[in-house]
Amino acid sequence: MKIIHITKDQKLSLKRSIDAGTEEQRKIVREIIERVKKEGDQALYEYTKRFDGADLQSLHVSKEEISRAYEAVDKEFIDIVQEAAENIFHFHEKQKKESWFYFDEKGTMLGQKLTPVDAVGVYVPGGTAAYPSSVLMNIMPAKVAGVGRIVLVSPPDQNGSLPAEVLVAANEAGVSEIYKAGGAQAIAALAYGTETIEPVDKIVGPGNIFVALAKREVFGTVDIDMIAGPSEIVVLADETAVPHEVAADLLSQAEHDRLATSILVTPSIKLAKEVQKEVVAQLADLPRKDIAAASIEQFGAIYVTDSIEEAVGIVNQLAPEHLEVLTENPTGVLPKIKHAGAIFLGRYSSEPVGDYFAGPNHVLPTNGTARFSSPLNVDDFMKKSSIISYSEEAFRAHASKIAKFARYEGLEAHARAIEARLEKRGSDRNE
Ligand code: NAD
Repeated sequence: MKIIHITKDQKLSLKRSIDAGTEEQRKIVREIIERVKKEGDQALYEYTKRFDGADLQSLHVSKEEISRAYEAVDKEFIDIVQEAAENIFHFHEKQKKESWFYFDEKGTMLGQKLTPVDAVGVYVPGGTAAYPSSVLMNIMPAKVAGVGRIVLVSPPDQNGSLPAEVLVAANEAGVSEIYKAGGAQAIAALAYGTETIEPVDKIVGPGNIFVALAKREVFGTVDIDMIAGPSEIVVLADETAVPHEVAADLLSQAEHDRLATSILVTPSIKLAKEVQKEVVAQLADLPRKDIAAASIEQFGAIYVTDSIEEAVGIVNQLAPEHLEVLTENPTGVLPKIKHAGAIFLGRYSSEPVGDYFAGPNHVLPTNGTARFSSPLNVDDFMKKSSIISYSEEAFRAHASKIAKFARYEGLEAHARAIEARLEKRGSDRNE
């Protein structure tokens, strides 16, 4: 991991171009979506056979399959998932906002009515890595928001099964329906519906390039979540940090993906050198060392600054997805941090504490987007309607101003809609 001395004025960024796919991939995705729109379930069965090698009898995951999943996993796994689910539920409940209204003395009522999205689709990627923690993190805020129908889709293995851990986590989180479908065809089914799958209003969850492109294609028909880039961790540390703990935390991100970014920012050259050595030592026996080493080699860095204040400035420039603060007084640093998806304070708040268990969402803004966006949260599954209720007194007091405003915009019919209520006519019901 390279050590780089950094000056105050240096400009740094985590921003990378997001994989927009090739023209060929975009064409494939559009064709898949069109076929699902036209042929419905039949297209889903055929694509599942072609891409996932599974000859399905039914797209729907039955209650019996969920029961068998509970028998297939460790009792300890169920206990941990239940406790994590409770923590995530409890944290997200705090985010829930209420509708609000206010009145004035003329009897006007204004306000905002909050309503959950009716139906949400959660995409869970297939492949070797099944992430039940992501299942909890995507479903739970929707559940807390009060979404009535939460539909999970995921590509099956060749035997037509979904991982037992995913089914258990989804059931614990309160999923309504689960279907065996993956890739662009699953996204199309969620957006447009088939004989078996009713359409939803919003689609969330990560996936490969075919999933990402399909989500972009259906955006507008349904809402989608953020487009996530590779994972990132920045550790802000001073000489009080423990080198082997810092190294372990950097590697915990590096093992995700060859494209993941792990960065230490510190004013301590001593810590920088010790962490550099520790990363090499700990890489040696990591099961996913090929991935972690490639990530550290290409995107890992240790930035050494002149002061902790300058180190904080670097962190704010990077606006990382995950930030760990391992300084003498982490809460003292917190007010100076402006941009980060999740902030982990102190040595006992290592990133996996938040990834799996603590309660805050682990779906976070990447690619420097923490400058303007937030973790997945309950608001993402709620809509707001404005409420306007004028009394006659309030209306008469302001009608002429409103009609004038309309005429400034050249919209005569708007002005007349106001004035129609000021005129007295024989046909008025109240006369
Ligand atoms: P996936 O479920 O995303 O995609 C599998 C599907 O892709 C298949 O069912 C098939 O329909 C489609 N597909 C594959 N090849 C195709 C082709 N040639 N033409 C058309 N469709 C094709 O599973 P995956 O491929 O294993 O990818 C998982 C992805 O999810 C990875 O990119 C990984 O980085 C990402 N991921 C991200 C997170 C996160 O939190 N950001 C978590 C887990 C996984």
